[in-house]
Amino acid sequence: MTDVPRRNWAGNVTYAARRFHRPSTLDELRRLVAGSQRLRAVGTGHSFNRLGDTTGDLVSLAGLPPTVEIDRERGTVTVAAGLRYGDVATRLHAEGLALANLASLPHISVAGAVATGTHGSGDGHRNLAAAVAALELVTADGSRLAVDRADARFAGMVVSLGALGVVTRVTLDVVPAFELRQYVRRDLPVEALDAAFGSAYSVSGFTSWRSSTIDHVWRKQLADQPPPPADWLGTTAAEGPVHPVPGLDPVNCTLQLGVPGPAHERLPHFRMGFTPSSGDELQSEYHLPREAAAGALAALDGMRDRIAGVLQVCELRTVAADELWLSPNQGRDSLAIHFTWVDDAAAVLPVVAQVEQALAPFGPRPHWGKVFTLDPSAVAAAFPRHADFAALLAELDPAGKFRTELLDRYFPRA
Ligand SMILES: Cc1cc2nc3c(=O)[nH]c(=O)nc-3n(C[C@H](O)[C@H](O)[C@H](O)COP(=O)(O)OP(=O)(O)OC[C@H]3O[C@@H](n4cnc5c(N)ncnc54)[C@H](O)[C@@H]3O)c2cc1C
Repeated sequence: MTDVPRRNWAGNVTYAARRFHRPSTLDELRRLVAGSQRLRAVGTGHSFNRLGDTTGDLVSLAGLPPTVEIDRERGTVTVAAGLRYGDVATRLHAEGLALANLASLPHISVAGAVATGTHGSGDGHRNLAAAVAALELVTADGSRLAVDRADARFAGMVVSLGALGVVTRVTLDVVPAFELRQYVRRDLPVEALDAAFGSAYSVSGFTSWRSSTIDHVWRKQLADQPPPPADWLGTTAAEGPVHPVPGLDPVNCTLQLGVPGPAHERLPHFRMGFTPSSGDELQSEYHLPREAAAGALAALDGMRDRIAGVLQVCELRTVAADELWLSPNQGRDSLAIHFTWVDDAAAVLPVVAQVEQALAPFGPRPHWGKVFTLDPSAVAAAFPRHADFAALLAELDPAGKFRTELLDRYFPRA
């Protein structure tokens, strides 16, 4: 097939698969999975590492029927797993419903985002995977498996790293539709970061590590709340729309300057139909316990010149704790420190390793879909349910059909 991506969005990974597939029915998918030795699903390819790569069959679910089924009584929507969040959110909005939070871009598939523990920001908001109420997947032998929160294994199966089967349907919690206004403020003192995070529905801080303040704060607040006062936390208001990456055109970004709009058009920083972020980049991200935030930022401050030398922008967000085994936020409210690097792996990787070293005392957990080089023992120690997930892998995929090199490194076979 020609319409399955051969490379990831960033272009730093060319998939090693021998065959590419785009089934149009569930039965076709089941036969494909049952008959394959090695297989992985791909979503929209927005991950930056080889977690989802395979030497066998790579399968996209974009050809399956794009179902969206709302259950108002339960407060859920069940969607075809390959749908993009932006499409789901638009459909929900038309029905007076919304998702409680979204990532910085609406372009990503539901299954791919959930599999890596993708998140937005907000002291009171968990990551996108925590909104999953049920899943349906095709397991290694081609059979169908449906699980929900009542299943003891469920908490291990949502942030699955794509390693437990091909997820075909995802049920998500929904909330009544709501409106937000987005204000961008400049030059937040680092000491005021906590107050800024706690001040609104969803808050992100952006820094280039070239100044002593947080360069921009994106404050996404409920539309009926008063705008921040002129002297809010010592900041000044941005005079016009801005892009998170200094110098780029804000036309790609969701509306700012306090213009009210539906939550799904304000929670992401980037608009559907436009390039998110810069497009020429690598990304890394680490989740730290919230109480370690000041120490972790101080540790990075000590190497700010090295970071700044290969950085486009660094984003700081908060995520509430959940119970999903491989969630970067499992059991702890978190500060997420994200790096949009320049598109030069040779220059970036040594700095990634130095960042990891600086953060090591604080128990960093990596974003599973971004560039990281942490030692497997450090990753195992950072996720208390690591061994439980390894057991789940052995149970659901005994022959290693969904295994990849990166998975073998972090979850070695027994
Ligand atoms: C510009 C940009 C901005 C980003 N912003 C954020 C952000 O705000 N917050 C954040 O947390 N992350 C962010 N990310 C990272 C992104 O959300 C994750 O990498 C996410 O996994 C991408 O989803 P995808 O559909 O592209 O997944 P893919 O990269 O296609 O796949 C990711 C993993 O999911 C597996 N998978 C995909 N589909 C299925 C399926 N049907 N069944 C089983 N496994 C499956 C794959 O095998 C792979 O292991 C950003 C990425 C980019 C490029």
